[in-house]
Amino acid sequence: MIGILGGTFDPIHYGHLRTALDVQQTLGLEEIRLVPLRDPPHRAHPTLSPADRLALLHAAVDDNPLFRVDTRELERSGKSYTLDTLRSLRSEQPGDTFCLLLGSDAFNGFHTWHRPDEILELAHLVVMQRPGEAEPAHYHEHLTHNPAALKQQAAGLILPLPVTQLEISATGIREMLGQGNSPRYLLPDAVLELIRQKRLYRSG
Ligand code: ATP
Repeated sequence: MIGILGGTFDPIHYGHLRTALDVQQTLGLEEIRLVPLRDPPHRAHPTLSPADRLALLHAAVDDNPLFRVDTRELERSGKSYTLDTLRSLRSEQPGDTFCLLLGSDAFNGFHTWHRPDEILELAHLVVMQRPGEAEPAHYHEHLTHNPAALKQQAAGLILPLPVTQLEISATGIREMLGQGNSPRYLLPDAVLELIRQKRLYRSG
């Protein structure tokens, strides 16, 4: 099974990395694909360019073979729809099972995504409980609390999983940097170093 974590990663932080590792350990995932999106359908454009967000992702995970950065959404034009990404992954690796990792805040908007039912035909969803967010309230018929069930069918289950509760967000990190404060210990040192070198997220 392969974990897919999509996001703006503006910038990547320990709230992404530690929770993805929690899921990897619980489910025994072979790898976690980090898929930076180019043009988010449901939110404002990322503040950094795709190239800068990608450089930060590589700085964060290149020393860990469990993580792989997947650039297919950056290379595709138009809106970054998860359905298109899953279709292309499926056609490349038809024998693999894909688990889409989502924070509970992201899952709360899942029903408004582009063709959510077709997404569930191609992948399982693993909902990582974020601080202050309730249990999944949509798609009850897909819900399971048994991690082993995900190995018994190729797609279509939604598994809520407790993960390390890290109240870290990219928004908070951008605000700290904009105010001249340090976000150290909320993201890998190598990522912060690159932010400093490239003078990213400076206000004004
Ligand atoms: P922003 O603050 O800019 O909205 P973010 O910190 O939520 O960004 P994204 O790149 O938008 O980061 O998130 C990608 C995915 O990672 C989403 O599914 C999101 O729910 C999840 N995620 C982000 N931060 C955490 C966290 N601290 N704990 C669990 N999941 C998280």
